[in-house]
Amino acid sequence: MSAYFVDVGSGVEYRLSAPKEWGYLMKLHEYQSKQVFAKYGIPIPRGRVASTADEARHIAEELGGRVVIKSQVLVGGRGKAGGIRLARTPKEAGELATQVLAMEIKGLPVRKILIDEAVGITKEIYLGITNDRGARRPVMMASSAGGVDIEEVAANTPEKIIKLHIDPLLGLRDYQARDLAVSIDMPREFWRSFGEIAAGLWRVYKENDADLVEINPLVITSDNRLVALDGKMVVDDNAIFRHAEINEMRDLGAEDALEVEARKYGLSYINLDGNVGCMVNGAGLAMATMDIIKLSGGEPANFLDIGGGASSEKVAAALRIILADPKVKAVLFNIFGGITRCDEVARGVLTAIHEVKPKVPMVARLVGTNAEEGLRLLANANMITAETLVDAAQKAVAIAKGA
Ligand code: GDP
Ligand code: MN
Repeated sequence: MSAYFVDVGSGVEYRLSAPKEWGYLMKLHEYQSKQVFAKYGIPIPRGRVASTADEARHIAEELGGRVVIKSQVLVGGRGKAGGIRLARTPKEAGELATQVLAMEIKGLPVRKILIDEAVGITKEIYLGITNDRGARRPVMMASSAGGVDIEEVAANTPEKIIKLHIDPLLGLRDYQARDLAVSIDMPREFWRSFGEIAAGLWRVYKENDADLVEINPLVITSDNRLVALDGKMVVDDNAIFRHAEINEMRDLGAEDALEVEARKYGLSYINLDGNVGCMVNGAGLAMATMDIIKLSGGEPANFLDIGGGASSEKVAAALRIILADPKVKAVLFNIFGGITRCDEVARGVLTAIHEVKPKVPMVARLVGTNAEEGLRLLANANMITAETLVDAAQKAVAIAKGA
C-alpha cells in the first residue's frame, strides 16, 4: 500500500512507498461504515457496539442469542487474526467478548466490539469502489470470490475481480450494475437487490468524498437476502470540513498521536519510517526535499508542510512534533521565504529549541525573503547551515547515518 499526496499548488502527484499509508485519509470503523451504509439503503445485520463483556451479553440477549463478536480496529484481516467470533448463547457472547477485548490485532488494542446478529451464509461476494488515478475516475470492483482472502484473489487470480469504471458526472448507471451482477454470476433473483446496493454504495462514495468504500463480504444469506456483513470506509481528510457527521466519528485514540497533534496546529504532517526529520514550507517543496534526501542515500522521517506565512508559534509546534519522534537522528529545515519570512521562521525555531532542547543536530537551508537574517540567527544557535538543498540534504543524511 502507498499514500498519495497531490500538491494543489503545483499539481504534482507524489507517491510514498511507506507502510504508514493513511496520511490525508481518515478510516472509519466497521460499525461506523455500516451505519453510513444503512442510511443509503444498504441492508446490514442488526447489531450494536459494546466496550464491556456485560454490554455484549445484554446486546446478545436483545438480538436473540446467536451473535458474532467483532473487534473494531482500523486494520483488515481481523477474521484471520481471531478477532471475529461466533457465539451461540448470550453467556458465550460474554465470554468471547472478554477474550476479544483483551486482544491486540496487528499492534492495535481492541477497545470496542460490534455485536451483530449471526447470519447464515450461502455465498460471500466482494463489492468495493475506489479511485483509479490512472483512469482518472472511480472504479467499482466486484468478485464472486469474496470473504477473508480477497487480497490473495487479487494477487493470484485477478481475473476473478471484475472492474467497471464510473463516469463521475453520470454516476453509476443501472445497466452497469446489472452487467456487474451478470459478470460475477449472481443468480438472477438477486440482480435487483444487488443493483440497489451498488447504487447505494456509489452514493456513499460520492456524497461523503470517500477514497474507498468496501463491502467484504456482501453475503447471500440462507434465507435468500443480500446483506453487507462487513463494511469499510476511508474518506479524504481534506474534504472532512464539509462532513461534520463523519468528522465526529474520528477515533483519535486509534490514530497516530503526532499526526493528531499536528492537525491541531493546521500542519500537514505524516509520520514515515526514516530518520531525517524535515520541516519545509509548501507541499511541493516538501516532496522535493524528501526526494533529495532519498537521492542522498537517506530516508525522511516525516512529511511536514508548515504552510505559507507560518507564524513562529506554528514553527515551534512543528519542531516539537518532529523532535517528539524518537526515530529522528537529524533535522533538515528547508525554507523558501516568500510570504513566509525566513527570519520569522528562524525565530520560531529558536523558540522551539529553547523549549525542547533538542539533542539531534539540525541543518538549515533558507532562501528568499530575509534569508541572511534567518541564517545568522540559526548559526548563532549552533545550527549547521547550508547554501543549497543538495548540500543541506547530504549533511543531514551523513549526520543521521553517523548517529
Ligand atoms: P475481516 O476479516 O476483518 O474482513 O472481518 P469480516 O467482518 O469480513 O469477517 C470475516 C469473516 O467472518 C467473513 O468473511 C465471514 O465468513 C465471517 N462472518 C462474519 N460475520 C458473520 C456472520 O454473521 N455469520 C457467519 N456465519 N459468518 C460471519
Ligand atoms: Mn471483511
